[in-house]
Amino acid sequence: MPIADSAASIHSLEQRIKSALEAVNAQITAACMQAERGVDEVTLLAVSKAQPTADIRYAYQAGQRHFGENYVQEALDKIHALTDLQDIIWHFIGPLQSNKSKDVAEHFDWLHSLERLKVARRLNQQRAHKPVPLQVLIQINIDDEDTKAGIELAQLSDFAKQVNALEHLSLRGLMAIPQATASAAERTASFARLATAFTSLQADYPNVDTLSLGMSGDLNTAIQHGSTMVRIGTAIFGQRKG
Ligand SMILES: *Cc1c(COP(=O)(O)O)cnc(C)c1O
Repeated sequence: MPIADSAASIHSLEQRIKSALEAVNAQITAACMQAERGVDEVTLLAVSKAQPTADIRYAYQAGQRHFGENYVQEALDKIHALTDLQDIIWHFIGPLQSNKSKDVAEHFDWLHSLERLKVARRLNQQRAHKPVPLQVLIQINIDDEDTKAGIELAQLSDFAKQVNALEHLSLRGLMAIPQATASAAERTASFARLATAFTSLQADYPNVDTLSLGMSGDLNTAIQHGSTMVRIGTAIFGQRKG
């Protein structure tokens, strides 16, 4: 490709990511207004799994700070390539095997998918030398799906108590991925259950302030039910490349 063309296409990719971010942020703003909530109550988490490092940098340059990754090794490569972006915030949102917990404790700011006490204890030890605790969300299997990660709501109160006792983890709230096939009514019911659990968790733990709920298709409903963090990938970056 001639140099001029290649420069033009890089420019257009950068521009496309910037415009997509603006569109998603506008959607969040509209959903907040509809829900009569403040716009700054909801944070956009840009899900960058299977997206190139260069695209993450473009999103950062357009003002995005929170990024979510699902696969440890892929994420570590990107984190290392982007260490010059000092205020970037990395969230691990995929299933976490205990043999990978050290990488998450070392290199991430947040974990959304905490569901096992054994992993929580490992993370706590592995985070001990860091000045800031790992910010954790407990994943809830909100629709009791056999194949989905997360604890049941009935276990939340015990599990939260044990996690909260770990000094190098900071319990910040809950995360859920609703059943893909749920009807709108079922989804609303699931989100309402989760919202109730979140409110009662907040009453027990004053640090709890984060409900990671909502993706492209259900952002409005999630924000209506108190989501404080929405996770959006392909609407920002386009189809996954990996
Ligand atoms: C991949 C992923 C997303 C983003 O999905 P998109 O379809 O790319 O918007 C959100 N949350 C979780 C947990 C994911 O794994």
